[in-house]
This record gives sequence, structure tokens and C-alpha cells, in this order.
Amino acid sequence: MQFYSLNKQAPNVSYAEAVVKGLAPDRGLYFPESITPLPASFFENIENMDKVEIAYEAIKQFVGDEIPEVDLKEILADVLSFDFPIEPITDNIGTLELFHGPTMAFKDVGARFMARCLGYFNKDNDGHVTVLVATSGDTGGAVARGFLGVKGVDVVILYPNGKVSDIQERQLTTLGQNIKALRVDGVFDDCQDMVKSAFLDGEITDVRPLTSANSINVARWMPQLFYFLFAYQQTKKLGKEIVFSVPSGNFGNICAGIVANKLGLPVKHFVAAVNVNDTVVNYLETGKYEPKPSTATISNAMDVGNPSNFIRIQQLFDNSFEDLKKDFSSYSFNDDATREAMKEIKAGNGYIADPHGAVGYLGLKEYGLSENEYGIFLETAHPVKFLPVVEETLGHGVAIPPQIEEVMDKEKSYTSISTYDELKSYLLNETGYKN
Ligand SMILES: *Cc1c(COP(=O)(O)O)cnc(C)c1O
Repeated sequence: MQFYSLNKQAPNVSYAEAVVKGLAPDRGLYFPESITPLPASFFENIENMDKVEIAYEAIKQFVGDEIPEVDLKEILADVLSFDFPIEPITDNIGTLELFHGPTMAFKDVGARFMARCLGYFNKDNDGHVTVLVATSGDTGGAVARGFLGVKGVDVVILYPNGKVSDIQERQLTTLGQNIKALRVDGVFDDCQDMVKSAFLDGEITDVRPLTSANSINVARWMPQLFYFLFAYQQTKKLGKEIVFSVPSGNFGNICAGIVANKLGLPVKHFVAAVNVNDTVVNYLETGKYEPKPSTATISNAMDVGNPSNFIRIQQLFDNSFEDLKKDFSSYSFNDDATREAMKEIKAGNGYIADPHGAVGYLGLKEYGLSENEYGIFLETAHPVKFLPVVEETLGHGVAIPPQIEEVMDKEKSYTSISTYDELKSYLLNETGYKN
């Protein structure tokens, strides 16, 4: 399959090139040149298929023959080696738990899939590529873990000082090997801006090829569409129309859900649930897209003022504002409402939601489910990753799972930077990447 740049000023590329490049040379995001619906039989038989079969059928048109069937299935089996259960919350609401992977964030699937694709494309050459990534919290850990030890790949992660949780910081600063962490004096948007500048800086990219592992990379973004298929597989028997509420930051996850919908997945409506970073909510009200600096919240992985994937969502609706508004809503909630939702969910059936999941729950409440609809909010992180907020809000902690226990007493290792020039000199002078 060929991918084109949404800025339309760059040549089309293969899947492999899109993965290796990350962003097109014209700074546009890559987008598949076609999306062909899956046959009706796929959805009729989905209950009898396993995760790898479902994922393979859904992704194969995008990867094309660039990764042969056996290898692609092997990659998928490896990536999808944990469960994606739906837990009931109320009679008409369930939560799709996406946190059973190695770093307990939903980004594990995208990060692992991208790492294995890149590893596959690098397997027969001595190519060296540096994955440069900005994180508002969970991307860093998932990417670090996904790429740990992958041949020919070095990872440099930028994260905002004091804006990620202690556990998140540990997950990205304690692995060593090919993983380097840079602690930035600033907010997430500063990290993201520095990363974007580095991609465009020929003095760096001439000597050190860079790629991105943010959801702008197609290999990070697209496999997230599996979640929506797995959710359908589990809830089809209810015979209701499904409304998905997705806690959104860069809008990659929900955008992948819309791709699943284009593949034929029956979905009644998509709700992008956001914290006070409400650029898209305002856009849907006014028709004007006005990005703004991000504001820090307790759902920090969604503190994004200029969601990079929104342009892909517009493309999926052929840039029709009216069509978009029919199938897609976005609602914003502040931290107080989020804490109240965590309490309400807990009081209902004892379930402990993390702040991001709680925002997703609020999205369904605001949407107002009708009789024949079933609402699913995506639980994008395990509550343990936001322990201080959970403890403070619910009055007690949660048991620490083994995946997290592992990093708790390891030494953090990072380099502090505050300007783009410091990043540049780090990338040019840090020698570890050539080994
Ligand atoms: C990244 C992240 C989100 C936002 O996902 P997007 O694809 O960027 O919209 C939500 N919740 C958690 C826990 C995350 O890590």
C-alpha cells in the first residue's frame, strides 16, 4: 500500500518508508491512499476468530506484501500477547481495559507493533535510526519498553520535568541499553516542538536519521484500530448499537477507531472525551481550529493543545464539517468533574478507574445513551500509574502489579535540557547510538 502526505507536497511512499520516515518531508502526516472495507463475513464470524486473525485481516491491506504473512502474524502474536477485556460498569456502560500490557498503558500495542516493524525492516542491513519522541506521560514508557534491544534502533525520549508521574518517569528512565531519556524544563508542547524542529534540521538528520514514535507514525497509530474490533467481538451478542468514548489527547486512538469504522465495523457514534484542553470541542462548536498551549491536568497524557491526528480525522470524513459532526462529538471535563466521576464509578460497582478512563466515562454520560445503545469507554491506563490522584480521590491506593513493581527501585537516569540547542548538541555529540 502507498501512503501519501496530507500536505500533498511530498512523494507517495511504501508502508516501510512511511514507518522509517515517520513524518513526510513536507511535514505532513502520512495517510493510506485507500481503505477497503472488510467483507461482511469478517464481522459475521468475528466471535470465532482469535485476536491475531482479527488483527491480521484488518491490517494486511495497509502493510501489503512488505511484511510476508507468516512474519506479520508472528509480529502480531507477539504484540497482542495480553487480554483486552470489557468490564461492566453499569447496565449500559462497559470499559474496555487496554492496560494489560508490559507498561500498563494502551500505547503498548502501537509501540510494540512499530518497534517490531522497524526491527523487521532493519533486519538485513546495518541501518541505524534514532526514534525521537516527546511524551506527556505514557508514550515514553511504552516506546522505551517496546524498542528495548531492537537492532539498529536508538531511542531518545523527551519528557516535561515534573509533569509526568513518578511511575511514568521510572518507566522511561530506568531501562538503559538503547534507551535515553531527556528531562526538559518546560511543558509537553515544548518537548513536542523541539522534536518537530529536530526532524526539520538537516544538520542533524544528515548525520543521524530520525524517526518518530508518536502516533504521527503510521505503525504506532494504525494498530490501535484492533481495540475497537476486539470490543465489538465481545459486545456483538448484546445486539445493541455501540457508542465509543475515547479519552483523547493527540486523537490517534479515536482516529484509529474511525478507521475501524471505515473497515465496516458498526459504530453508532464516537465521543472524544477530553480534559480542559478543548481545542477540538471549540472547533466543533465554532468551525475554527485554534490550537493553544496545553494546560496541565490530572489526566496528563491528554494535555495536548494541538492534537496532531485531528487532521487525519478530518480526512476520514472527506474534510466535511457536517459529516464529521454527525458521527463524532467531543466534550471537555475539568479535574473536579473527573474526580467526581472516579468516585461515582467506584460507588457504583467498586471499579477503580484512572483519571483518563473517568474522563471517558463522563463522555458517555454527556452524550446520553439511549435505550438501544451500549456505551464503551476506553480505559487507557491502569490506575496505579496515577497513584497519588487515585489515593487522594478515593482515599485508598491500589495494589501494585508486577509490571510496575519491577521499576520501583531502579535508579532513574536522564540528561536535563532546556533549549533546542541543547537537544541538538546532544543528538550530534552523543556517541552511544553508533555502536
Ligand atoms: C496517550 C494517552 C491518551 C490519549 O491518546 P491519544 O491517542 O493521544 O488521543 C489517553 N490516555 C492515556 C493514559 C494515554 O497514555
